[in-house]
Amino acid sequence: MARIVMKFGGTSVADIDRIRNVARHVKREADSGHEVAVVVSAMAGKTNELVELTRAASPMHDAREYDAIVASGELVTAGLLAIVLQSMGVDARSWQGWQIPLKTDMAHGKARIADIEGEALGEAIDNGEIAICAGFQGIAPDGRIATLGRGGSDTSAVALAAAVGAERCDIYTDVDGVYTTDPRLAKQARRIGKISFEEMLEMASVGAKVLQTRSVELAMAYKVPVRVLSSFDPPDAPGPGTLICDEDDIVEKNIVTTVTPDFNEASVTILAVPDEPGRAAGIFNALAASNINIDMIVI
Ligand code: ASP
Ligand code: MG
Repeated sequence: MARIVMKFGGTSVADIDRIRNVARHVKREADSGHEVAVVVSAMAGKTNELVELTRAASPMHDAREYDAIVASGELVTAGLLAIVLQSMGVDARSWQGWQIPLKTDMAHGKARIADIEGEALGEAIDNGEIAICAGFQGIAPDGRIATLGRGGSDTSAVALAAAVGAERCDIYTDVDGVYTTDPRLAKQARRIGKISFEEMLEMASVGAKVLQTRSVELAMAYKVPVRVLSSFDPPDAPGPGTLICDEDDIVEKNIVTTVTPDFNEASVTILAVPDEPGRAAGIFNALAASNINIDMIVI
């Protein structure tokens, strides 16, 4: 009997039917004797809609009010999932960020997690109640709601897993794992069984959008194994997904694990640069002045 955290992204909770499907995944884990905390995102498209509303109200707005508005999407999903679980005879309740409390710093709109007091949550799940936590949010030192930056529910989930001493954090999304490359671009792409935290960070840094980068950093720091799997797999027979774990836990080590395309990069060749001190610096200074990032230099 293990303690686990299950996280469901926006497409997995896009409507009531999908929330019902998520509830079946949660019930499966609870029925198998696990202590379960769940983290949910807002329903697909909801956060974008809320961000647009704040912009429409005023393009220059108070970041604390932005947070109050955009954090609401997750509150709705958490409540709906609790209701659906209760209707299935499962003991569940919703937890808003401040109720946990998940404490952040003062950087409203892109806050970092400062501390999580996991005792109350731990006690609830100890007693067999499923804790449905609103992702993406916490409470700042000013006593007001703060959000963790777009995609922040992944980070909420990993941080909560660390705080309640969960054995692993299962992140349910609309793909059934991490692939050797983007399957929409190459049909030879294969699902990876296990990948290290470092490799996952490397992928995220070049734009692979599986998980928020900070969630992987946190998982690595606190050694929380993270599994990426699909909520669209049948709840009674989920696929194995991809396990993101410590390098030492991977027996078969590959030299190259994945290929991640980056479409925001251009290759520029400059010919006949005189081999004199200061010439290269002159080029780099000009690029830096135009905010052009240099990723790789080949001489
Ligand atoms: N709902 C938030 C977003 O769309 C957080 C998340 O889904 O992770 O960015
Ligand atoms: Mg996401």
